Amino acid sequence: MLSNFHTHTIRCQHASGTDREYVEAAIQAGFKILGFSDHCPWPFPDGYVSNIRMAPAEIDGYFSAMDAIKKEYASDIKIYTGFEAEYTPALNTAQEAILAGYPIDYMILGQHFLGSESESVFVGRPFHEEARLKQYVDLTIEAVDTGKYLYLAHPDIINYIGSDKIYEKHISRLCQFMKEKDFPLEVNVLGLWGGRTYPDRRFWEIAAKIGCTAVIGIDAHSPEQLLNTTAVKQAEAFCEEFGLNRIEVQL
Ligand SMILES: [Zn+2]
Ligand SMILES: [Zn+2]
Repeated sequence: MLSNFHTHTIRCQHASGTDREYVEAAIQAGFKILGFSDHCPWPFPDGYVSNIRMAPAEIDGYFSAMDAIKKEYASDIKIYTGFEAEYTPALNTAQEAILAGYPIDYMILGQHFLGSESESVFVGRPFHEEARLKQYVDLTIEAVDTGKYLYLAHPDIINYIGSDKIYEKHISRLCQFMKEKDFPLEVNVLGLWGGRTYPDRRFWEIAAKIGCTAVIGIDAHSPEQLLNTTAVKQAEAFCEEFGLNRIEVQL
């Protein structure tokens, strides 16, 4: 694994370590490319203040810090600046407005919510409603169709606990679309190592059968996670076990 495009910073309010510590850990781990993809700020219309992502007021500081660190470590590692973002049709235009003019290298799609965070429930909470599963798939397909994203982070975060038949019906449609678009799906190291509900084996059985492309993302919320080679090996073994076509994404 030579590149990791899924890295957070302290600005999202649930990560630790300085930007420099992430870069130094990545160099030590042997990465050639480190992409910072902190949780994207949203201009919530109702005065809602998120405690799980960067605030709009921090965008300036994020890009100036990244610019400085890219230059400082230019001979050691290639650094890219991006975001992990949800696709939220009602707020997308407002978000594009606050991000306009910034040198964003890439975005990864992380569909944690199906609407504005201020009025939505996290998709990782277990649920039974087929309509919600369908909505996740529809929204994710619509998002990928914009051409705005590099890959889909933890595609299996959606925690539908109803029948396997219904899960397969919708997730097959998702995977079929991704296969047609040749759009990579992430095997999430944080989820695997942390014993989260993702990577979800049900999901990857379907993705493997359809022949989707996979990418490993560390989803680092601390510099140490970049140095956890055991966790990365576990993710590599997971890809092998399912016979996934694993790639390193390129910008
Ligand atoms: Zn995420
Ligand atoms: Zn993340």
